[in-house]
Amino acid sequence: MVDTNAARPVRVRFAPSPTGDLHIGGIRTAQFNWMFARRYGGKFILRIEDTDQKRTKEASLNGILEGLRWAGLNWDEGPDIGGPYGPYIQSERIDLYQHWAVWLIDHDLAYRAYETSEELESMSKGHKGYDRRGRSLTREDWARLDAEGRPYVVRFKVPLTGETTFTDMVRGPITTRNDTLQDAIILKSDGWPTYHLAHIVDDHLMEISHVIRAEEWIPSTPLHTLIYGAFGWEMPQIAHVPVILAADSGGKISKRKHPEAAISYFWKNGYLPEAVTNYLCNVGWNYGLTDENGEEMQVFSKEDAAKIFDITRVTGSGTKFDMVKLTWLNGVYIRNMDALELAKHLRPVLEAAGFEVNLDVLLQVVPLIRERIKTLNEIVETAGFFFAEDFTTPSADALIPKKMNAAQTAEALQRARAIMAALTDASPHAAEEPLRVLAEEMGLKPGQLFGAIRVAVTGQAVSPPLFESIAIIGETTTLARMDRAIEALSESSVETR
Ligand code: GLU
Repeated sequence: MVDTNAARPVRVRFAPSPTGDLHIGGIRTAQFNWMFARRYGGKFILRIEDTDQKRTKEASLNGILEGLRWAGLNWDEGPDIGGPYGPYIQSERIDLYQHWAVWLIDHDLAYRAYETSEELESMSKGHKGYDRRGRSLTREDWARLDAEGRPYVVRFKVPLTGETTFTDMVRGPITTRNDTLQDAIILKSDGWPTYHLAHIVDDHLMEISHVIRAEEWIPSTPLHTLIYGAFGWEMPQIAHVPVILAADSGGKISKRKHPEAAISYFWKNGYLPEAVTNYLCNVGWNYGLTDENGEEMQVFSKEDAAKIFDITRVTGSGTKFDMVKLTWLNGVYIRNMDALELAKHLRPVLEAAGFEVNLDVLLQVVPLIRERIKTLNEIVETAGFFFAEDFTTPSADALIPKKMNAAQTAEALQRARAIMAALTDASPHAAEEPLRVLAEEMGLKPGQLFGAIRVAVTGQAVSPPLFESIAIIGETTTLARMDRAIEALSESSVETR
């Protein structure tokens, strides 16, 4: 059950570690937090967990902000905009963690441990982990070891008996025997905290009411429950969302093996954020509303989903990431987009591919291609030729349709050209009927004739509808391209294909 009593205003956070481009699972976690905050009129906070300095990458803070902004997951407090609970970057809060580590030591709830990494390694060979020998050291021992210059870590004192239970909003109560838990390190020898301490101090001080995070943290949650108990702090309600599985393997989707596991993949490859966030709603949760025909609705916004988002309906088991479905959805968003808006999205894609884009031409192209592309990037292959400055005349090989030869093709194009040049009617389809008659006269299938014209004029065997494309290209250019194709064919000796 989701308990959102007014005494504890809803405050949730997304707390990524800046270790590279955001993972698709990270975006999904952020999105579920965002929807939860919107659902209950709460706040969505962005906090950067960079206490693992070895893994922290310079560039990736920007990557995180960029990824979240792209997805439209706006935050109410965070490192870039500040807020009443800042700073929102853990490396700027080290004093706080040290203060609370000392507080735990002073209350005999944590202790210093001076073992070297070699000593720890030999202990872990026994598979029992740390043997808690630091518990028996006195303050005099500490003074002596400090004088010897021995570094120490701070470990949390886990109760040796009893059980710990927490209630997961997704999975219900989970109980663990305390004697299966380790005295975890909460402060490292360099004075930096581990995740276990840092996130608890922050979640408490930032008055986080609900924690929604990846299921990989379930095994650590009993420890966290005990640490909250030791401080005497109220623990936020907690929900663990399931992993996202790769479609191919059934294993976890990983950036190493699956390019689409990194959120940047989607903007680099022409996906719309609305489609990605729409899709992610159904990864681990399910929108579940039906349309007037009783069909399950597939197309909806994250804002609509937020209105009914129910964390307790999140599934406990992993969900496969279905790129086919997502790409289909992306196509739907492209089809439904306002023409000018779509043109504005397509323009930079064409420009990045080296084309000079005339917006008027692009606006004429949009209705021809919107049904044919599923990603913005497909515009380049589908319709780049409209914007090509220097058109390369296709080779004879490409121009000659199946079961025809060079001479026949040249003749067909020559006669088609004459028909097209003589037209007085400017409507796009005016040439179609006379060209069908021509095909029949020449004993050709219409597809053979139209195919040859298509390659001659667009340079492609597949293109948007031929006559509409010709109308955009314009008569002069069309006829000139046909002339060049005829010339190429006359120099060719290609026999029947
Ligand atoms: N920094 C942790 C991570 O990236 C945060 C986990 C949490 O949300 O508590 O996995």
